[in-house]
Amino acid sequence: MNLIFLGPPGAGKGTQAQRLCWDYDVAQISTGDLLRSNISKGTPIGVEADKYIHQGNLVPDELIIGMIKDELKYTLAGGFLLDGFPRTVPQAEALDIVLKEMNFKIDAVLVLDVLSDEIVARLTARRTCPTCGKSYHLIFNPPAKEGLCDIEGSTLYQRKDDNEETVKHRQEIYENQTKPIIKYYEKQNLVHKINGLGKLDDVYYLIKNLLQKIVK
Ligand code: AMP
Repeated sequence: MNLIFLGPPGAGKGTQAQRLCWDYDVAQISTGDLLRSNISKGTPIGVEADKYIHQGNLVPDELIIGMIKDELKYTLAGGFLLDGFPRTVPQAEALDIVLKEMNFKIDAVLVLDVLSDEIVARLTARRTCPTCGKSYHLIFNPPAKEGLCDIEGSTLYQRKDDNEETVKHRQEIYENQTKPIIKYYEKQNLVHKINGLGKLDDVYYLIKNLLQKIVK
């Protein structure tokens, strides 16, 4: 099963993606996580990417496409879920070329719909584990022990790009640069929209129901 997950920042893509990948045994490829890992290791990609992420801007397409190509080579065979990629039409076009070369195809593009006011509230209360990347919400999905990851026990942190101003900027970028991808995939009849408002479990149930119908 090969999936693309789209939706505005804070729609809950990452959290739902983690559960899906676990249940269906496919690889989660998150460009955001790959970039943050490069930043913490201080690689050339990380140093360059940090300048953009910090301000809530997209990292240039060439850098992302180069990074994802390498990653896909290792993970394509067993099925994958792309989380946070593609984010622009040129990235979607580049992905189509890579997949064609490797004889793979996308089964579905899932789009999580969430209203923008809800997103600001969600992201500013988000806390993330520096070790495994798991996200929590201070009110709706808090960790068992305050401030610590349930899995790793690491001290949770607030991502630098999860403050209100940067979140609003990231939303605008989603509207202008990422949303056009939905049209791109609609032309390929791959798009399925899901209402992302509501409890994590309820949204996950909607996603699983949908997948049962579309992926054989
Ligand atoms: P995320 O964890 O998916 O919210 O990504 C965090 C930040 O990483 C984004 O706001 C962008 O600055 C950068 N980023 C992640 N994926 C991409 C991508 N596919 N294209 C460009 N920038 C990206």
